[in-house]
Amino acid sequence: MFEYAPAPESVRPQIKEHYGLFIDGEFVDAESDFKSVNPATEEVLFTVAEADEADVAKAVAAARRAYETVWGPMSGTERGKYLFRIARLLQERAREFAVAESLDNGKPIKETRDFDVPTAAQHFFYHAGWADKLAYAGHGPDPRPLGVVGQVIPWNFPLLMLAWKIAPALACGNTVVLKPAETTPLTALMFAELCQEADLPPGVVNILPGAGAAGAAVVDSAVDKVAFTGSTAVGRAIAKAVAGSEKKVTLELGGKAANIVFDDAPIDQAVEGIVNGIFFNQGHVCCAGSRLLVQESVADDVLERLKERVATLRVGDPLDKNTDIGAINSAAQLERITALTEAGRGEGADVWQPACDLPEQGFWFRPTVFTGVQQSMRIAQEEIFGPVLSVLTFRTPDEAIAKANNTPYGLSAGVWTEKGSKILWAAERLRAGVVWANTFNRFDAASPFGGLKESGYGREGGRQGLEAYLDV
Ligand code: NAD
Repeated sequence: MFEYAPAPESVRPQIKEHYGLFIDGEFVDAESDFKSVNPATEEVLFTVAEADEADVAKAVAAARRAYETVWGPMSGTERGKYLFRIARLLQERAREFAVAESLDNGKPIKETRDFDVPTAAQHFFYHAGWADKLAYAGHGPDPRPLGVVGQVIPWNFPLLMLAWKIAPALACGNTVVLKPAETTPLTALMFAELCQEADLPPGVVNILPGAGAAGAAVVDSAVDKVAFTGSTAVGRAIAKAVAGSEKKVTLELGGKAANIVFDDAPIDQAVEGIVNGIFFNQGHVCCAGSRLLVQESVADDVLERLKERVATLRVGDPLDKNTDIGAINSAAQLERITALTEAGRGEGADVWQPACDLPEQGFWFRPTVFTGVQQSMRIAQEEIFGPVLSVLTFRTPDEAIAKANNTPYGLSAGVWTEKGSKILWAAERLRAGVVWANTFNRFDAASPFGGLKESGYGREGGRQGLEAYLDV
C-alpha cells in the first residue's frame, strides 16, 4: 500500500461553547444542558440545552402560529424562494458544515464534503422547485399541508436526515419541530442559524436537542404528523404512541440489506460496491449492504479480492482527507458493534480484520469480514450498524432470493450481474424498498427512498415523498 502524508483539513468552523434550543426564531436556554463529544478524540465540543416537555409545547405553539399566520397562507412561489435561499446558503457554507459534521459525528471529511452536505443542499434545491408545482405532483389538484410536523432523526447522517425531513415538509407548507440525535446536534443548530440568516419567518423551523425523552415529547405533543428515522424498536414505540390519534406517521427504520453477487458479475466492480456498501460511513447506514450473498463458484475469488481491497482502507483521523473509515459515533455504539462481533465469533463464524493501527483516544473499530456465516446467526439477522460484513454463499438464483428475503427488514438490496434480465428478475422478487443494480448506496433527491416490512413505511424524496407531507 502507498504511504500518504497526512492531508489535514484546514478550515475550522466557528463552534460556540454553548447552544440553546431554537424556538420561534431565537436561541433560548433550558432547565438542563448536555455535552456533545468529538468521537475521534473524546473531547467535549460544546454544551447544548436539553428540551423538556414544556419546551416542546412552546415550540409546537410557535410552529402552529407560524403555520396559521405566515407559512400556511404563503404562496408556493414565495415558500420556494425561502427554500432556494436556504439551499444556496448551505452551498456557500458547505465546507464549514462538512468539517462541523466530521467533528461531531466522526465520519471522514471526504464523505461529509462530497456526499452529506452537497446531497443535503440538493434536497433543498429539489424541493424548492416543487413548492409552487404541488398541484401537478399527482396528489390532487389542490393539495393542502398537514400543519405542524414533529420530526425525530438519528445520528448517522445528521444534516442529511434533517434535509430529508425539513425540505419536503416546508415545500408542502408545513411548519416543523425537529429533534436531532443526542450525539450529533451541531449541524442542526448551525442550520437554525442559517434559517435566521435566510430570514425564515420565526416558528417555521424549531430545533430541539435532547435525548429519547425529548423525542417522545415531540411524538406526544400537539403535532399533526410525526416523521421518524431511527431504529425499529423506537419506531414500534412511536407507532403505538400515535395509534388511535389523528396524527399521521411515517417511519424510516433499520435494515439488513443483502448485496448479491452472481457468478457473471464484473468482480472488481462488485468488490468496490461491496466495500462502499458496508464501509461507507463506518457502516452506520440503514441501507448498508451488511450481508454479502456471493455465488459459490466465484466466492473464493471475490473474497480474496475483497480482503486485498479492505486491507488498503485507511482508518483514522476523520479530518484527514485520505481517511476512508472514521470514528464510531459513540461509546454506546462501539459497545454494540463489539458485542455483536463477539456473538458472531461465539456462534462459530470466521472473522477477518486487516492489520491496521487505531488511534489511542476515541472510538474505533477495524473493518471486519465474517465468513462461514449461517442464516440463523445473530450477525446474519440483526442490524450491527458498524463496519462489519457477514458473508453467505448461494448456489442458485432462487436460493439467493430466498436468503436475501430471510430477514424481518426490507429496506434495500444490491444485485451484481452482467445480465439485465437477471437484474429485473431479482428486483421483482426482492422484498426491499430500494434495489440497486451494479452499484450501491446511490441517492438522489428525485428518487423515493423507504422500506418494507420492519424497515418502516412512507417514502422520502421524489414526487412520492411529497405525499407524506400533504393531506391526501
Ligand atoms: P434510535 O432509534 O435509538 O434513535 C433515533 C432518534 O430517536 C434519536 O434522535 C433518539 O433520541 C430518538 N428517540 C429515542 N427514543 C425515543 C422515543 N422513545 N421516542 C421518540 N424518539 C426517541 O436510533 P439511532 O441509534 O439513533 O439510529 C440508528 C437507527 O436508525 C438504525 O436502526 C438505522 O437503520 C436507522 N436509520 C434508518 C434510516 C432510514 O431511512 N430507514 C436512516 C438512517 C438511520
